[in-house]
Amino acid sequence: MSKVTETTLEIDLNALRQNYHFIKSKLKPSTKMLAVVKANGYGSDGVIIAKELSSLDCDYFAVAYAGEGVALRDAGIKTPILVLHPLPVNFDTIIDNKLEPSIYSLKMLRDFIAFADSKNQKNYPIHLKFNTGLNRLGFIASEIETMLQHIAETSSVKICSIFSHLAASEDANETIFTQNQIDQFQHISEEITTQIGYQPIRHTLNTSGILNFPEAQFDMVRCGIGIYGYGNDPKFDKELVPVLSLKTVISQIHHLREGDTIGYNRKGQATTALKTATLPIGHADGLPRSLGQGKASVFINGKAAPIIGNVCMDMIMVNITDIECNEGDEVIIFDKKHTAEMLAEQMNSISYELLTGLSSRIKRIIA
Ligand SMILES: *Cc1c(COP(=O)(O)O)cnc(C)c1O
Repeated sequence: MSKVTETTLEIDLNALRQNYHFIKSKLKPSTKMLAVVKANGYGSDGVIIAKELSSLDCDYFAVAYAGEGVALRDAGIKTPILVLHPLPVNFDTIIDNKLEPSIYSLKMLRDFIAFADSKNQKNYPIHLKFNTGLNRLGFIASEIETMLQHIAETSSVKICSIFSHLAASEDANETIFTQNQIDQFQHISEEITTQIGYQPIRHTLNTSGILNFPEAQFDMVRCGIGIYGYGNDPKFDKELVPVLSLKTVISQIHHLREGDTIGYNRKGQATTALKTATLPIGHADGLPRSLGQGKASVFINGKAAPIIGNVCMDMIMVNITDIECNEGDEVIIFDKKHTAEMLAEQMNSISYELLTGLSSRIKRIIA
């Protein structure tokens, strides 16, 4: 790997393939795989990820919003795309781009049917989302009858899948709650299948669901963070390979005297003579301010360099007193060894937030 010369997010497609195959190895041969590529592929590059996964015959993609699906269609992705959180204002965009909406309320169902009718659609694929305990989006079981009546009265839409989302699939202390969600979903599926006379694709597992509740894979699973190399559990992290590495370079080195201060509001203090490096990455790139003042470190020539003082918008300063290094040297913010999950912990967060917060001004390359 050649050294980076500016702040760069490296995307390792070998790692992506390895994670994809690892997740597939947990599934029955008949279980379909939906890869979640929302939020620009969890902060990476949604198009690069989707192209690679479609070459592996991934069955489905999911995005959160319609615009994210349009970006994939514009890039030539032909795989079916589920839009997890469509809004009525996007119905036009959805149908124009052959995106498949998650329908989560009776009002939305009526509105979408009316819209599909007005566009002369026949059997447009829709996905019915059920709330089994997350209390975020979804129908409840008592709405099934009305829902199915609406669908029976039209030929413009067809139920392609039914699904639900687990609230705490990564949490071993919440197994009873999760099992109850799975059981509710099973009952809902049976009721719908009996009434409509065919079986839509059923899916409820996210990454931690796949790993912790493999018996509940139904017909398809929705894998997000796992394909990017994080398993929400040290036991599964060992089997997965982080796809993303964030690297930068040293812009300038300073030799400070005892008593000097570093950065805004003088929050960095040189209590002895210090050597610092200024790096071209800051909170506008998605490195939160909460990581400043010694909370987190970056890695230079294999050694930890703590962030000193406040994180600026476009820069951080790090303590390199004990590190042999030069201006222009490479700096690791996170990689396969010093993972995004570890850095996220220092900001009291999770890999999902750190990755999806990486701003668009960071250069993305395929490593
Ligand atoms: C984001 C999301 C997923 C993916 O979850 P991971 O934990 O990243 O695997 C699956 N389903 C829904 C409904 C989601 O919103």
